[in-house]
Amino acid sequence: MINITSYNENNIFAKILKKELPSEIVYEDENIVAFKDIAPQAPIHILVIPKEKFCSFNDFIEKAKKESIAKFMKSLKTVTEVLKLEDGYRLITNVGKIGGQEVPHLHFHILAGKNMGRLTSLD
Ligand code: AMP
Repeated sequence: MINITSYNENNIFAKILKKELPSEIVYEDENIVAFKDIAPQAPIHILVIPKEKFCSFNDFIEKAKKESIAKFMKSLKTVTEVLKLEDGYRLITNVGKIGGQEVPHLHFHILAGKNMGRLTSLD
């Protein structure tokens, strides 16, 4: 089970931020990096991560300055504009064990490029 209470400097996305691991970056600014998911679940599957270190959405909302939260959200919207997702997209952030979070650095998934269908199965 991942540790989502204290930040692990060795997580995969920390290494991508430090450019220690390769990634296909589609957009970057002073607040965020957006890159292609290595195992895409839709024709367009982008991960958006803040440059600040937060383990999860909970950690972010509890600890980040309001200004950081606002800037992150604006940058997230900018990514959808850069990707020209006028027809829509799905935005997901998984939190914790049953939420399906695998990487303990806050990230939002942007999924698009097809009709995304129903949100989830009840299985
Ligand atoms: P989550 O399950 O919400 O934590 O999502 C983690 C996502 O990171 C998954 O969709 C993985 O496919 C993706 N992922 C893992 N390693 C990499 C990597 N090195 N580069 C890009 N995406 C990755």
